[in-house]
Amino acid sequence: MEAIPYGRQDITDEDIQAVVETLKSDYLTQGPRIAEFEEAFADYVGSKYAVAISNGTAALHLCAIALNVEEGDKVITTPITFAASANCVLYCGGEVVFAEIDPATYLLDINKVRELLESTPKGTYKGIIPVDFAGRAVDLEAFRQLADEYDLWIIEDACHAPGGYFTDSKGTKQYCGNGNFADLAIFSFHPVKHIASGEGGMITTNDKELYKKLLKLRTHGITKNESEYKNSIEFAVGTTQNSNLNTQNYPNWYMEMQELGYNYRITDFQCALGTSQLKRADVGIERRREIAATYKKAFEGKEFIKGQSGIVEGHAYHLYVIEAGDRLGLYNYLREQSIFAQIHYIPCHLMPYYRQFGWKEGDMPNAENYYKHCISLPMYPTLTVEQQDFVINKINEYYG
Ligand SMILES: *Cc1c(COP(=O)(O)O)cnc(C)c1O
Repeated sequence: MEAIPYGRQDITDEDIQAVVETLKSDYLTQGPRIAEFEEAFADYVGSKYAVAISNGTAALHLCAIALNVEEGDKVITTPITFAASANCVLYCGGEVVFAEIDPATYLLDINKVRELLESTPKGTYKGIIPVDFAGRAVDLEAFRQLADEYDLWIIEDACHAPGGYFTDSKGTKQYCGNGNFADLAIFSFHPVKHIASGEGGMITTNDKELYKKLLKLRTHGITKNESEYKNSIEFAVGTTQNSNLNTQNYPNWYMEMQELGYNYRITDFQCALGTSQLKRADVGIERRREIAATYKKAFEGKEFIKGQSGIVEGHAYHLYVIEAGDRLGLYNYLREQSIFAQIHYIPCHLMPYYRQFGWKEGDMPNAENYYKHCISLPMYPTLTVEQQDFVINKINEYYG
């Protein structure tokens, strides 16, 4: 029997062709496919700028550096996310403060964040990292208002939600990563996400200064932009003292390392794949929404279901989560049928690494209770109607 995973990539002949063409071109990396992908992606989410990065985790790291996270800085995020959303703060010496999820949406609960902010002197916290978990867009208009009151930055972890949106107070659709509310947003192009490039990531923003900083940080802190140079032309040319300088220009070879950056670049052939995949992103979301509607209908009113992702406008359905009684039994039963459901996520604050900072069971009852029952069902555009029926039938069969 063919295995049915919880998520998987879809690679077409056109995708393969795009990669092969790039492999035959002059550039494997640092060529024209990168800017092309950045422009297409910025256009897709509606942001002014986009910076392609080697993966989503590196993208988060660069965001934390660009926003000046330093030793001891406190940053708030959700425990129901992939650990990378929190780890980026630790990379910079900061401290992660987890806040509860709303059990109805599985997203960071803004009221709990407000309580945290109100219970400490202004200036205690530096930023918030909300996550569009499962593909459901966070109401960033509300988070921006709160963040402004407390002078905080926002990094939107939109890895699950390219193409997702929420509707703001004026009735406008606000697409995830469009930069209207968050300072920076990040995406991942790991094969289980909506758009695959192998490994890969993207940062989007509407802030030109942050954009310029990120371009440098992505490649060792080096700039080749003459207007930014700090050393003199004399130094750059290598003229000896008293010799006459016969040029007004920095030489072609010249570049400056101006801050401590990294090699977090992505390759051209990955971007060729990303651009090719992006062309089908809307079709993919449409199919994901169909699959979600079918699950919703199938499990409506079923007493073994304690909760489910349900149908929410603008949801990008990276995951379709149900909260089930006897989750372990269901998980094992599905595995026997080659249906590989998955758990998203083990609460981050209870990972052994995070327990060293004092986090313990009982700290986040909503998140911990969610973890006891959550299971992500197969959800990807190429899941067939027959496969989904099979999954639904097996679940019904298990609960008899
Ligand atoms: C996948 C993911 C990341 C990390 O992305 P990588 O490209 O795998 O490094 C970060 N946050 C969330 C919510 C993710 O799902």
